[in-house]
Formats: sequence, C-alpha cells, structure tokens
Amino acid sequence: MLTEDIQRLLLGTFVRPAEETGTGAPRVEGVYGYLVRHDRGLVLLDTGLGRGDAETEDWYRPRRTELPEALATVGVGLDQIELVVNCHLHFDHCGGNPLLAGTPVVCQRQELAVAQHGNYTMEHLVDYPGSRYDLLDGEAEIRPGIHVIPTPGHVSGHQSLVVECEDGSVVLAGQSHDTASAWSADALAASAHALGHGEPLPTAPAWMERLLAFDPKRVVFAHDAAVWEPA
Ligand SMILES: [Zn+2]
Repeated sequence: MLTEDIQRLLLGTFVRPAEETGTGAPRVEGVYGYLVRHDRGLVLLDTGLGRGDAETEDWYRPRRTELPEALATVGVGLDQIELVVNCHLHFDHCGGNPLLAGTPVVCQRQELAVAQHGNYTMEHLVDYPGSRYDLLDGEAEIRPGIHVIPTPGHVSGHQSLVVECEDGSVVLAGQSHDTASAWSADALAASAHALGHGEPLPTAPAWMERLLAFDPKRVVFAHDAAVWEPA
C-alpha cells in the first residue's frame, strides 16, 4: 500500500472550555479518525465522539459527524471495516464502536481494564452487544506493516499506529500529542544529543525513539489537522 491509502476522516468538533485550555480562552478542536486501506482489509483508527450525558454535552458542546456519514465521504460502508483500533477509550475516540459490533477492536489490555473500572469513559461505548476486543500487552504487528506502539502519557494505556507503506512510513499518533508542534518539540528533544547539544536538555517520552526509528514521512493526530514532516 501507499501513504495515500491512509485517509483522514473528520468525525466532529468540540469546544474545549477556557478552564481546560490554559490560555484563558475556549478552543475549538477537531476529532479525526484515520482509514487505512490495507491489502488485507480496511482498518479504522478511532470512531468519533460518543453521545455523552447532559453534563458532558454542555461542557464540550460537541458537533458530530456520524461515523457512517464520515465513511461515506471516502466511499466506504460500516460493513467494510475489518478491524478497529482505538488509540485509547475516552468517549471522543470510541464513540462509533457500538456501530461496528462484531468487529474486533484492538486496544491495550490495561486500557480496557481501566475503562471498565468506571469513571473514565462512557461505559456503553465499551461494553455493548457484540463488543469484541483483541487485547494487546505492548507492541504488536496487527497486520503486515501495521504496528501498534504503546505511547503512554495522555493516558497510561495509550497506543499509536505506524503504517509502513511502499513510499514511506506514516505514524497515526492519536493523542500521543495534542498538536503537531508538541510532537515536533519532543522529536527534537529526542534527537538533541545526536544533534550535538549538551545538558541541560528537555526529556522526551522513551517511546519517541521507537516511533522515530520508523523514519516517518509524516505524523498525523487525533485532535490536530496539522501534519508533522521531518526536516
Ligand atoms: Zn481525545
């Protein structure tokens, strides 16, 4: 497959209130999923914003694109999805999972345990009729050339995907970083010694080196439409 066989889906937007942005102003954020047209079938990373309780709806004021509608924009139906991967199980990433009942969902075992324990996500998005999980304990190659890499930080069970294509690798980072610029800062931090910089230096998460070892041609995110490319 080629890097152009990975397509972004806009699954909605929400307004992060000023209390959470640290800037004193609210911020509108996108919610993006990614469709991977692998030779062995369609793989979908993240399924959109779940319907919350009234309190969550009022707090984040989400506008949704329903998953079937988002998939239709790239000519795909729900029944064509072979495999779902969630970067983590917060409600803004697994909202469409129940629509894909019977389709395996790849997540980290610890992430599912935390989500089932309560007070973490909307439980109806995790345990629903026909829910089926392929649970991982760390890294795995789930299809030839599609690697799941644990990227703890935002939550401890967070994971990202790396897709090795004929024309280069693409990292589907999910929410490993909120923005492409945050990734960029960590990528430079991880390379600082190699660039000849001495201490003191910022520290990057240990897994940055693992992701960068795939020499990604681009890196894409769950909440930022900006794309990172190497220098
Ligand atoms: Zn999120």
